Amino acid sequence: MPGPGYAYLGDEERKNVEEVLDKWELTRHTYDKPDGTPFVRRFELAAQETFGAQHAVAVNSGTSALLTALAAAGVGPGHEVIVPAYTFIASIGSIVYSGATPVLAEIDESLTLDPADVEARITPRTRAIMAVHMLGAPCDLTALRDIAQRHDLVVIEDVAQACGGSYQGRALGTHGAVGAFSLNPFKVITSGEGGFILTDDPVLYQRGYAFQDQGWFPGRTETGEGEILFGLNLRMPELAGAVACAQLDKLATVLKRTREMKQWVAQGIAMRDGVRRRVLHDPAGECATLLVYVFDRAEDAQAVATALNSKTMIDSGRHYYANMPQLAALAEGNPPPSPFRAPGPVSGQDYRRGSLPATDDCLARSVAISIGVSDRYLGAGFGVTVSSSDADVQRVAEEFSAAVDGVLG
Ligand SMILES: *Cc1c(COP(=O)(O)O)cnc(C)c1O
Repeated sequence: MPGPGYAYLGDEERKNVEEVLDKWELTRHTYDKPDGTPFVRRFELAAQETFGAQHAVAVNSGTSALLTALAAAGVGPGHEVIVPAYTFIASIGSIVYSGATPVLAEIDESLTLDPADVEARITPRTRAIMAVHMLGAPCDLTALRDIAQRHDLVVIEDVAQACGGSYQGRALGTHGAVGAFSLNPFKVITSGEGGFILTDDPVLYQRGYAFQDQGWFPGRTETGEGEILFGLNLRMPELAGAVACAQLDKLATVLKRTREMKQWVAQGIAMRDGVRRRVLHDPAGECATLLVYVFDRAEDAQAVATALNSKTMIDSGRHYYANMPQLAALAEGNPPPSPFRAPGPVSGQDYRRGSLPATDDCLARSVAISIGVSDRYLGAGFGVTVSSSDADVQRVAEEFSAAVDGVLG
């Protein structure tokens, strides 16, 4: 079972899907049938309401949402975008496809961007900071927004792993200029495939809408205020919209469950010298989809992971920069790892293993217990799900404690 929302798929989603099938209206654009509100539009309006944003645009994946966010924010060739060295590969891939250069920055023991390192990597070409709320928890948005303001940069939030989370009482995805979300099966809520962006800025909204729908103005009007753009077709299909609407209604229920499950597991684990919990920038605002422990020593983390038949975070595939062969290919540039890129190396960037020592160190010392998101790629093959019984919760806490005692005891 991948993400917590997946476990809540049920009658409500089915009812919405049947409503689509009854009319065979498979796209948000009803063309010759102008009455009725498509689910994709209903989802956008509900997302605006739920997260407190002026505008939402639904798309067909989280990767599409990131690309749309970058397009909306005016990121392109000649620009650099600062992104954490620990994130899903899609954050970096979307920057590559925007034509900009990804600049990797260090994470700290929050497993999100280290603001001081972000600031140190700013150059005259830096255009944006991609703030990724990794493993369900907010990054240090106060510090990142302050840096962005002082250097005139755009903050793009990657909220793929933290839908429904908040920072200082405001929904994640509404702190930067634009927020990008995913609805894939491993995320907090799901529509199978899907994603969306949030923004308060009417210009970003117009550009974002145009980008995912062939350059049309919002509402698919021929003319409007704003820029003429070529767009692509990244639209969310109605069947996904139908599922997404029902899942959004369940978001609060899902998060209530992950948060109480996490509490129960954590309560069953006694702390020792040599290990502590991951730093949280706003404990009340995290989605609680994973419970992460950071050890003083990498050997201890490795021994605990091995005892649990799990992995440390440095061994998570496609989430750690050195586990992305595409980055090495980008540095080399011959052939380029994107068909839309001219051959040639990326100047000034070193993406090789070892080039981000603080990230290497933090990840090698971290072990995650899954709480509702079980994803081996994420190094989270050990833990509970939202449907686990009390006995399962107790067993997981005991097994983890025993492994820690065996290593640090
Ligand atoms: C899942 C994820 C994405 C991509 O979402 P898809 O819907 O799979 O395209 C982007 N960024 C992060 C951090 C993710 O975890």
